[in-house]
Amino acid sequence: MRFVWRQIPPDRVNHEFLWLSVSVAALVGGAIWLGLGLPSWRCPFLSVTGYPCLTCGATRCSMALFHGDFSIAWSWNPLALIALCGVALFDLYAVVVLLARLPRLRVIDWTTAEANAVRIGVIGLIAVNWIYLLAHHARY
Ligand SMILES: [Zn+2]
Repeated sequence: MRFVWRQIPPDRVNHEFLWLSVSVAALVGGAIWLGLGLPSWRCPFLSVTGYPCLTCGATRCSMALFHGDFSIAWSWNPLALIALCGVALFDLYAVVVLLARLPRLRVIDWTTAEANAVRIGVIGLIAVNWIYLLAHHARY
């Protein structure tokens, strides 16, 4: 696995622009939704089983994060907080490389072992987070 900075040919997908646009659209859409006072929906998994799904608490985590309360955000859904911080870092990176027309960061030449280690790590994080949510299911 190697990290490289390289220019992206015009015929390739501009991931920085694409995913920055998606995250900004989601942020604006969420702000409009909340600004209009529209109701939040109840999680169907929670309604059926009585237990939180993998993403339960993510909306409340987001709202706590936007109010600057990291500990409350962490308590609602730790993995959602980590993901939101990762999206914020990615968006910052994307704005910089897009405005400055800089080379893009890419991770290349993954070995099978490296790819599997990342997959297992991600699945492990999701599992540990879900165990946390299940242990605190009474609050959802
Ligand atoms: Zn849920």
